[in-house]
Amino acid sequence: MSAPAKFDALVIGGGPAGLTGGLYLARFRRRVLVIDDGRSRALRIPRTHNMPGYPDGVVGADLMSSIHRQAERYGVVFADGRVEKLEKTGDRFSARGPGGEILARVVLLATGTSDIESAVSHLAEAVRSGAVRYCPVCDAFEVIDRNVGVIADGPAGVREALYLRHFTPHLTVFLLSGENCLDEANRDMLAAAQIHLVEDPIASVRLSDGAIVVRHGDAETRCDSVYSALGMRIHAELAPGAERDEDGYLVTDRRRQTNIEGLYAAGDVLQGLNQITVAMGDAAIAAAAMHLALRRGEDRDR
Ligand SMILES: Cc1cc2nc3c(=O)[nH]c(=O)nc-3n(C[C@H](O)[C@H](O)[C@H](O)COP(=O)(O)OP(=O)(O)OC[C@H]3O[C@@H](n4cnc5c(N)ncnc54)[C@H](O)[C@@H]3O)c2cc1C
Repeated sequence: MSAPAKFDALVIGGGPAGLTGGLYLARFRRRVLVIDDGRSRALRIPRTHNMPGYPDGVVGADLMSSIHRQAERYGVVFADGRVEKLEKTGDRFSARGPGGEILARVVLLATGTSDIESAVSHLAEAVRSGAVRYCPVCDAFEVIDRNVGVIADGPAGVREALYLRHFTPHLTVFLLSGENCLDEANRDMLAAAQIHLVEDPIASVRLSDGAIVVRHGDAETRCDSVYSALGMRIHAELAPGAERDEDGYLVTDRRRQTNIEGLYAAGDVLQGLNQITVAMGDAAIAAAAMHLALRRGEDRDR
């Protein structure tokens, strides 16, 4: 068996949070490893228009590869693959990564979330063209006054539709599992906002000539875009001992440290706005604190 690889800091996840954390730590002259299994939500962004500094927008994958290059320039070590296990023994973390065991004094969990999908035909193409969307905060501006649907499975979908009402009056809520998933109060809120509710459960959702056609019962509705409001899977399973909130998001202090000393978190895996800028900001805060924590350890060992 080969000897474990030793780093000052291990970053798990290489989306906007992990790449930013790695970049900052490398510029703090830390030996840092970023391990990523290549499923960043940012890679699905056709073109973001709310990233400051890009007046014409930027394709998610292009943004990721330029931060990757920037981080490499300062010596961040990258590894492709998954971290399967993370443990803390004494004041060190040990991780099982793609190339074997890794030891690090501090760890940044930047593992993000993934979207719970409905069965949409040609999903990747529909996301690329903006026919299927996930995040009104990101791109409701792009659907102003368009004909928009929301795929819902409960009150969260109603909240999303009400949020979208500020941007377009042409809104329809489609229910994944039919009428029973919404109570009277939620129906009243939709009615008061003049949002159309389709009672029949969704039979199919398909991409057709750039638009989305939702089939329900014997009828079909055509939308310019639909928002999928089915929620997220939160990738916090590597830290079973870390505190989570009622929705499953990791909880941290203001330096983005979890209740486990030396274990920090940034980005979508934390409750908050699921946004690139927020993920980057979290990671900058966490990396600065990780560097200081490493310095305190070095002072003690001297
Ligand atoms: C279609 C779409 C459009 C969007 N549009 C915008 C927009 O316009 N503006 C905006 O600000 N935001 C937008 N977002 C949201 C944005 O993509 C996320 O907020 C952002 O990517 C979060 O960054 P993150 O680093 O926390 O997580 P992610 O980018 O999801 O990265 C997490 C990474 O961790 C990896 N990982 C997880 N577990 C492990 C493990 N055990 N081992 C190794 N690697 C692991 C994953 O594979 C992934 O690569 C959009 C999202 C989607 C899906």
